[in-house]
Amino acid sequence: MPDNRDVVIVGGGAAGCATAYYLAKAGIRATVIEREGVASMASGFSSGGLNPLEGAGIPGPLSDLAMASFRLHQTLDSELVDESGVDYGLETISMLPLAFDDDAISGLTETHRIFESAGEGFWARWLDPAQAAEIEPRIGPGVVRALETRGNAMLSSYRYTLALAQAAENMGAVVRSGNVTGVESLSGRVTSVVLDSGEIECDAVVFATGPWSGQVAEWLGVPVPVEPLKGENLRMILPGQPQPTHDVSGGGVSIFHREDGQVWVGSTEERAGFDNDPSVGARDRLMAGALKLMPAMADAELVLHTACLRPVTTDWLPIIGGAPDWDNAYLATGAGKKGILISTGMGKAVADLIGSGATDVPIAGLEPERFAG
Ligand SMILES: Cc1cc2nc3c(=O)[nH]c(=O)nc-3n(C[C@H](O)[C@H](O)[C@H](O)COP(=O)(O)OP(=O)(O)OC[C@H]3O[C@@H](n4cnc5c(N)ncnc54)[C@H](O)[C@@H]3O)c2cc1C
Repeated sequence: MPDNRDVVIVGGGAAGCATAYYLAKAGIRATVIEREGVASMASGFSSGGLNPLEGAGIPGPLSDLAMASFRLHQTLDSELVDESGVDYGLETISMLPLAFDDDAISGLTETHRIFESAGEGFWARWLDPAQAAEIEPRIGPGVVRALETRGNAMLSSYRYTLALAQAAENMGAVVRSGNVTGVESLSGRVTSVVLDSGEIECDAVVFATGPWSGQVAEWLGVPVPVEPLKGENLRMILPGQPQPTHDVSGGGVSIFHREDGQVWVGSTEERAGFDNDPSVGARDRLMAGALKLMPAMADAELVLHTACLRPVTTDWLPIIGGAPDWDNAYLATGAGKKGILISTGMGKAVADLIGSGATDVPIAGLEPERFAG
């Protein structure tokens, strides 16, 4: 039987577009409302790394969702490329984390353990400095040990988010421009979403508003403790030199190849409110880190310097599920530094909850209720 409900999704980043995509797959109509343009915020400028093994909450309370989301990316890829006509360059990558001192070696020991126990598709091996230099001859002096890891993935987060939106539109979703300023409600149900330019009635609403999710707390009267964490990247080219085959990292900086011939250097983390202007200080810090990893980066030309805002919560875990005390309001936000990775799981979980009231995506402990009361 057709599902005639109308779902409004506020926010056209990876979280909102993934939700629209999985709703469309379930035959449920959605309208995405985005005020700046699809993928115009962090989802369009992220590094696009899919690392389900390490990060805030991993290993830990985010591990199951991270791995489930990673597997969803793998099954989604060929289908989504066909459905959207957008190739977003998903590829498995090799990494070369470098240690310059004993502290860094203990970090690599943990990474080695995690990759070795991660199961199919992942492995890691220790390298001495000479072996590391065989893989990447441009690494800097002072490396004491290194790892080679395999199994993580990378994609263009801009094209991935566009692909989700395009595929959803091809299946009947609507993407429209607008700034949402509030909601109308009756007896614990959101009846319409209020825009600068009018109202849209809805049977359910999903807030995928990224770092701006604090506004939803005012509209619904529930806690949504999401704040912006600024991050900056440098997009560069190394004229006349081959691209790195492995993503080289150390000291909090990574140098990674992109399929368009660029090398990117990332990423900073800074609490700077809603300021998302690229800064000279961040550029200098990233370049200093990159030069230590690979002195040849001195010859690299800067193509673009980007800055954008990650949505982070007070416990560094995403907020996924129904808003407390509301029948038809859902949150898909707060994904922090993992928002491209877990967008598949977030989108599918919320679409499942709207469609049938239950999901097999592992979101236990990540629901909005944990902040209530
Ligand atoms: C430098 C950097 C590197 C990163 N690298 C990675 C990585 O390697 N891997 C990874 O998984 N993640 C990474 N991330 C994190 C990832 O980019 C984010 O977690 C993710 O993009 C968040 O997606 P989102 O859809 O929740 O938010 P956003 O992309 O911010 O989208 C939210 C959208 O909502 C819209 N909006 C808000 N309020 C309203 C309103 N009232 N009306 C209409 N529209 C509204 C905004 O305009 C925005 O487009 C990185 C982030 C940064 C900054």
